[in-house]
Amino acid sequence: MPRLENQVAVITGAASGIGEGTVRAYVAEGAKVVIADIEDVRGSALAEELGPGTTFVHTDVSSEDDVARAVATAVERWGRLDVMFNNAGFGGAGGPIEDLDMAAYDTTMNVLLKGVFMGAKHAARQMKAQGSGVILNTASVAGLQAGFGPLVYSAAKAAVAHFSRCLAVELAPFGVRVNAICPGVIVTNIFTNSLGVPAEMRDALLPKIDTALSNWAPLGRSGFPADIANAALWLASPEASYVTGQAITVDGGLTAGRSMGEFGERIASAFGIDPAVFAAQRAGQ
Ligand code: NAD
Repeated sequence: MPRLENQVAVITGAASGIGEGTVRAYVAEGAKVVIADIEDVRGSALAEELGPGTTFVHTDVSSEDDVARAVATAVERWGRLDVMFNNAGFGGAGGPIEDLDMAAYDTTMNVLLKGVFMGAKHAARQMKAQGSGVILNTASVAGLQAGFGPLVYSAAKAAVAHFSRCLAVELAPFGVRVNAICPGVIVTNIFTNSLGVPAEMRDALLPKIDTALSNWAPLGRSGFPADIANAALWLASPEASYVTGQAITVDGGLTAGRSMGEFGERIASAFGIDPAVFAAQRAGQ
């Protein structure tokens, strides 16, 4: 039996990358999905490709009316809401703190944090009434450690992870589970978008991002949307029925730590020892 048979989901940021990958995974497992995004052309094309089990709703997650409409569409069309995946995002405000443009700060926080709050708010109303549901929020390794994203982005993602823990406790008595997913570095348009690459050129550049990232994580390959979609699938499924209040990292080992080899090389060079000797000693231990 498909793992999400008769389940209804709203996925924000669903027209591209992780969101699109999750739409495809959910539909393949029997779910009905509202594709919620600001990218009308991509979102509509995806809904057309996947058929009547999906529908596109123009949704800017920083607009409460838009978020409410996306949730209402799921309930009006399919009678319930089982999964709310608050996933929309972008790089947002950049630059050093002393130059921070506060309007850009507001825009960034409105999408990355307020958008998640509003998605959860409107989903919770429906899910509490049903007595069941799953809320998933896309955080990031940037919310766990410094160095993986701009300052405002990273702070927002840390807040998303902690919001997910706190909301999980609030909603647990009502049969609603809440978890965050912290992706590592995933090959998507978020990078080309941040660099100002025109929309029509972005997909063609994804292989270059894959090449650039392929040896960065300990597992030795880039992360792909399907890696995160698989986590989102598991968290939505009954197999995760005892999992709530977690920020689950899916990063190929990126945040696990550095390799001992690099450490050893630095220590060896500090004492003028040939790193190869150090490596041979370690290998013999
Ligand atoms: P992506 O650019 O491929 O997809 C992001 C989607 O969000 C796009 O379709 C975009 O149109 C949509 N979006 C942007 N602003 C929106 C708004 N105001 N309202 C509705 N939709 C909006 O990038 P992605 O990597 O798939 O990003 C998905 C999520 O994953 C984001 O929250 C991002 O911060 C997070 N994330 C990505 C990575 C990574 O390495 N790619 C790592 C950690 C976390």
